[in-house]
Parts: sequence; C-alpha cells; structure tokens
Amino acid sequence: MVTISASKRGRFRYSSSHIQYALTNIVITLAVLLFLNIYASGTNQQLIYQNKQNSMLAKCQVAAAEIGGLEVLNPANAASAVEQMGSLLVDRIIITDHSGVKVYDSAAPLSETAEYILLPEIVKALDANDVFSWDYHDGNMYSRAAIPIESYGTIIGCVYMMESDPEQGLLIQNLQTNIFTITLILELAVIAFSFIFSALYSSRLRKIMASMRIIREGDYTHKVSMGGQDELTVLGHEFNDLTDRLQTSENKRAQFVSDASHELKTPLASIKLLSDSIMQNDMDIGTIREFVGDIGNEADRLNRMTQKLLSLTRIESQVDGTCEIVKFGPTVERVVRMLSGIAEENNITILADTEHDCPILILEDDLYQITFNLVENGIKYNLPGGKLTIRIYRDEDNGILEITDTGVGIPEEALSHVFERFYRVDKARSRKSGGSGLGLAIVRNMVERNQGTIRVTSIPGQGSTFTVSFPAFDTDDEEETP
Ligand code: ADP
Repeated sequence: MVTISASKRGRFRYSSSHIQYALTNIVITLAVLLFLNIYASGTNQQLIYQNKQNSMLAKCQVAAAEIGGLEVLNPANAASAVEQMGSLLVDRIIITDHSGVKVYDSAAPLSETAEYILLPEIVKALDANDVFSWDYHDGNMYSRAAIPIESYGTIIGCVYMMESDPEQGLLIQNLQTNIFTITLILELAVIAFSFIFSALYSSRLRKIMASMRIIREGDYTHKVSMGGQDELTVLGHEFNDLTDRLQTSENKRAQFVSDASHELKTPLASIKLLSDSIMQNDMDIGTIREFVGDIGNEADRLNRMTQKLLSLTRIESQVDGTCEIVKFGPTVERVVRMLSGIAEENNITILADTEHDCPILILEDDLYQITFNLVENGIKYNLPGGKLTIRIYRDEDNGILEITDTGVGIPEEALSHVFERFYRVDKARSRKSGGSGLGLAIVRNMVERNQGTIRVTSIPGQGSTFTVSFPAFDTDDEEETP
C-alpha cells in the first residue's frame, strides 16, 4: 500500500498510496473498457458480415443457376442471361469459364477480349468453393462473393460479384465513433473520480500518520478526529484508545518511580544517619554494635522492598505462563506449614477448613503467593492470642478462598486503598513487622491476571476478611461440591 524505505535517521520516505490506487483503478477500467469496445464492435461487424454474406451468395446462386442452364457458355449467352436476371443491385458481375477466362464483365460488357481474370475469389470458386470476402475503408463497405457454375455435375465456370455499400459503411463508422467517444468519456470520468477519492483517502491516512508523529514526540493527550463510518474511522478510534492507554501507563510509570524513590529514601537516609553517627561520635563498642545492627535491619528492609518491587514489575509486564487446574487445599496447607512458626511466635491459632475444596484454573505459583501474602498479613496484623480462619468453598461458578483474622482491622476510609502500592494504614506497625506496602498490590495484580477478584471487609479492632474468588474449573471426573 505504502512503499517505505528507511533512512539512517529512522525516518521514512514513501510514495503516496493514492497515486498507486488511482493508477491501478485507471488501468483496470481501461482494460475493461477496451475489452467491451472490441467485443461490441466485433459482434456488430460480425452481424453485418453475416447478412452481407448471405445476400451476396444468394445473388451469386441465382446467377449461377441461370447460367448453368445455358447450352453453351459464351459472351453473348452470358450477357443475355445476366440481362434476363434484371437488376441484382451489385456494382460488378464477372462470369468466367472453367479456366478463369472472362466470359462476361458488367464493368466492360462490350469487350470481346478473352482474358484471364484471376482474382483470389475466382480462383477459389473454380476450385469448387463458395467464397465471400469483405473489407471496410474510406467509409465504404466492399463485399465480394464468387461461386462455381455447375452443369451436370461439372464446373463450367464461376460467377463473381462485387458490391460497395456506403450505408453499412456509415453504420460501422458511426458505431466505432460512438463506442470510442463513450469509452473516452467513461475513462476520463474514472480518472477524475479515482484521483479525487484516492486523494481523500490518502489525506485521511496522512492525518493518522501526523497524529502518530505527535504521539511519538510524547504528547499522549493528542487525539485524532476521523469522520465517516469506514475502517479508517475505526482505526482512528483504536488509535485514540491506544494513546489513552499509553497515557495511563506513562502516568503509572511516573507514579511508580516517584513512590519507589520515596520509599527507598527512608531506609537509605537511616543508614546514612547511623553510619555518620558511628563515624562522628566516640561510641562504646556496645552502641556501635547496636547501630550496625540497625544498619543491617535497614539493609534487609531495602532488600525485601527491592525484591517485591521486582516481583511487582514482573507481574505487570508478564502476560503469559502456563495455567494449571489446581485445588486450593494443598497450597493452603503448604502456606500454613511455612508460616506456622511465626504464628506460634505471635500466639496466633490458624484454623484451615479445606473440606469443600474445588478446582480452579490458575498459575500455581500465583496461588501460592496470593495465599502466602494474605495469611502472612493475617498473622502480622493480628493481636496476641488471636485466630486466623481459612475457608475454602464453592459459590455458584466460583471457587472461593476466605481468610479471616481477629486482628487490628482496617478503618473504612482505608479499605479502598490497601491494594495500592506502598499504602500502609499504620506506617509504624507495618515498618516494625517488616512491611513494605507492596504485598496486597502484588496480590491484586496476581488475582486479576488469573481472572479472579478480591475484596476486603473489616471491622476496626475486631478483624478483617479477605475474599479471593476464581472461576471454578470443573472437569468430567470432578464431582461438583455444593
Ligand atoms: P505491608 O507490607 O505493609 O503489610 P500490604 O500491601 O500487605 O503491605 O498491606 C498494606 C496495608 O494494609 C498494611 O500496611 C496494613 O496497614 C493493611 N493490612 C493488610 N492486611 C491487613 C490485615 N489482615 N489486617 C489489618 N490491616 C491489614
């Protein structure tokens, strides 16, 4: 459609598609019109030719029958036979004997000279053929016919007739002129319309290209406005949707960078402060150890945060992976085993009910990470001696994982923010428990990329419930659980 060649700077030179479209249209219609032209005039000429052939041969046959009945074929007999036939409305009649010697010629009826007339039609007629030929020139149609004269089965000569027909000639000429004129007008119309339409089409394409250039320069707010109802209009809408998405992801990226730098700044500032204190003050070994320990803790926090950030970036950019049909139960049991030590340390009881398990289609590692983060939070934000209840059940077409704790709870105004990156209700508590504010953001991204949903309800001071739901995936050998 558009011929593009790349130059060194990454810009493109192209030849406009509308000229190519227009030329293609013109060539195609020209070919069609030429074909119709040739076909129409050919068919007409064929009809005229047939009529003329039939009439000329009929006249020749009348003459041949008349002359074939003569006792002797000589100039006098032939002339009187022609006379008796009356006017045959032809321009010239020639009668020859079997060797091609002229017996009668209407162009010179009184000439007695015996001469050979070896016109091509006469030669063929003497060879026992009915012959007809015609040509058209100078607005006149010239037809010639010749047939052999037979007497008792023997060819004794031939009749040749020639006729010029200006009326038919005129007809053919008019026909050719008309067809040519119509063809010319049609072709001119096609040329004009082809250029107009393809120029319009091309200008709309150029509009999209100009918008693309603007977007490339970084102005994502630019929109292309495309009138009409065709594919280019759809392309314009798609293009605008694309720029909207680019704008959103650019905003997210900027927000992410700013959030991440802000979050990383705090532990880095602490490390700097602690190391400066060690360098500048005379401290006893015990205090130095304490400060260095704090530096280590901040470094661990940084490490955890960068790992979670990496994991979050990976989830956002990665779209594929192999989903498997799995049940919640085994994953929940693995997570509980992993976190039972911390739960015991904090005197938290974990109760897991996996009786009404159901299969779902999911990336298994994601299910583990989701369960791990939610159970870990349920322990972290619980109160000493509290409980953590994990339930699995099926609700209509969905498999549900429900994690309820009896912890500090989440204030109502914070409920809609807990899944945002770096959001923490109680910064000090989260910091103390090694939190980074990224756990629930990771959970939400993982849930969404597995076509699931997550919601949270909470009563401050009493506890919170996180409910994750994925479409149930029933296989034939699975019995449905109510
Ligand atoms: P963090 O690493 O700080 O735990 P999360 O993204 O996992 O980050 O959680 C975000 C915030 O949501 C937490 O800082 C905490 O304030 C709140 N939160 C998460 N889970 C619970 C819970 N089970 N109970 C109370 N608050 C919670």
